[in-house]
Amino acid sequence: MKVQKFGGSSLEDGLRIKKTLNIVLHEKTDHFVVLSAMKGITNLLVEASENAETGNINYKSQLLEITTLHNSVIEELFEQTANEEVINSIQILLNELKDILHGVELVQECSLRTRDLIMSFGERLNCTIVTSYLNSIGRKTKMIDTREIIITDDNYGSSNVFLEKSYIKIREKLSEVGFLFIITGFISGSEKGITTTLGRNGSDYTAAIIGAAMDSEIVEIWTDVDGVYSCDPRLVK
Ligand code: ASP
Ligand code: MG
Repeated sequence: MKVQKFGGSSLEDGLRIKKTLNIVLHEKTDHFVVLSAMKGITNLLVEASENAETGNINYKSQLLEITTLHNSVIEELFEQTANEEVINSIQILLNELKDILHGVELVQECSLRTRDLIMSFGERLNCTIVTSYLNSIGRKTKMIDTREIIITDDNYGSSNVFLEKSYIKIREKLSEVGFLFIITGFISGSEKGITTTLGRNGSDYTAAIIGAAMDSEIVEIWTDVDGVYSCDPRLVK
């Protein structure tokens, strides 16, 4: 059994998502799939929360960008007839995000706790779309929202995981057979059920926690470069 984790760079647009899911669908071993938010989305969410906190209505343009990016992925992935349901689910999430950002704008205050909630939308939006898409092409898939199974303290922004408690919940949730599980990276929940996060770039850690809980033979962290580079290709051409 293995865990496969794909980060934002493998989830940049509809085409990249399809390529990524091709890897997922051709995997022969039993596997769990952990996904980050789409590329750039978490940064946009942080930017939006910072703008809203200072009363700068520019947060609405970040919100629009987030909306446009996800809608175009839906358009790229789905046949026109099949996408109504997923558009509705995404709209519900985006409306909630809009309300939260408006709340931040009104009170001009964004605690780390609220910021975690805002950032959680990136993984939740992406995994909702991918799960619907896989179901639409006939692969029985369930989305797992890790806020219910990765339990942390309330050190918002970079929470500490209660491993044993989490392992029990993870095993319970992921032992259901007959489904491919699409698991949200990065996000978690406190014992009181409040949204927390594992810190920026936390999805690799999510994959490791799932792997440890399920006694996986291997945890694969996929990225979008060939081989092993001697420097960061985003910095050096
Ligand atoms: N989406 C989160 C971030 O950008 C987690 C991750 O990508 O690993 O930090
Ligand atoms: Mg990463």
